[in-house]
Amino acid sequence: MNLAQFARRGYVPTPTPLEFLPNFTKALGGNVNIYIKRDDLLPGTSGGNKTRKLDFCIADALEKKADTIITCGAVQSNHCRLTLSWAVKEGLDCHLILEERVKDSYKATASGNNFLFQILGVKSVTVVPGGTNMLEAMDKLSAKLASEGKKPYIIPGGASNTIGALGYVSCMEEIMQQMFEQQLRIDHLVVPSGSAGTHAGIIAGMVGNNINIPVTGIGVNRAKAVQEDVVLKLANKTLELIGAKVEVTKEQVVAFDEYVGSGYSLPTDSMVEAVKLLATTEAILLDPVYSGKAMAGLIDLVRKGHFPKGSNVVFLHTGGSPALYAYLDCFQK
Ligand SMILES: *Cc1c(COP(=O)(O)O)cnc(C)c1O
Repeated sequence: MNLAQFARRGYVPTPTPLEFLPNFTKALGGNVNIYIKRDDLLPGTSGGNKTRKLDFCIADALEKKADTIITCGAVQSNHCRLTLSWAVKEGLDCHLILEERVKDSYKATASGNNFLFQILGVKSVTVVPGGTNMLEAMDKLSAKLASEGKKPYIIPGGASNTIGALGYVSCMEEIMQQMFEQQLRIDHLVVPSGSAGTHAGIIAGMVGNNINIPVTGIGVNRAKAVQEDVVLKLANKTLELIGAKVEVTKEQVVAFDEYVGSGYSLPTDSMVEAVKLLATTEAILLDPVYSGKAMAGLIDLVRKGHFPKGSNVVFLHTGGSPALYAYLDCFQK
């Protein structure tokens, strides 16, 4: 698939490591070999998956002569931190609209990503109640800034549109090349599935390149059927944008929802276990909202015997560790 037809800023100059986790594998019993794709090490303040998507989205914004970026997310959004980070690098203004998905969860003085919004010099933060139509809220802000002479560009939540998903099509191609170079057989891929651009891009890259490795998404908010539908539609729209003459089928999209717990961003015991286990065995930090819950899913699937003995399973580490510092109490008790 020809991704060179799309404008890009070059935020991902080198492949992120794809490596074996010997101690973590041993801690899980040794029957399944766990590998990790370190997208937590991507460039951009504190790293994480949004950098790959923003590489394409911000290039589009600059082509359209924008001088201001507007985006949205939850109160501890990694996506907002990285959008702000790249906007700063590009000399663009950045405005954030934060959705209080958990009532009263916004604290102006909170640590984690919120703290980083402040020191990276965000132009404005607007907090809106959970359930607000975020696109409408961004449109409204955009109209106001335009009336003041600005040229705003809106990036949707998680940069999960077709342009953003190209970043994960590219990641899949990077993994394919690493499998070749490392002579590595991969039997299964486990990915977090949130606003869906990551999962959709990976599947689109997989199907578009005729690689038949099963992908398991671990949902962090929506119910299974709803999430799978969102991923399927975005994956196919992305393939259409690329001009690939293939389609993802319903059977190729799996997004388990049993690791969400009581809701988006709310801690679970299995997330705490996953974060601690990877930290104490491999010194790699997960996050409480996405990669921690996704890893909790992988751990449970390994323990349940979901993967055949001797399988090589890759976990896509999407980053997010700054959010840990906003969740101290659940790790300290
Ligand atoms: C946004 C995010 C995800 C989920 O990716 P989507 O493309 O939104 O599904 C996973 N992990 C981290 C750390 C994130 O910030």
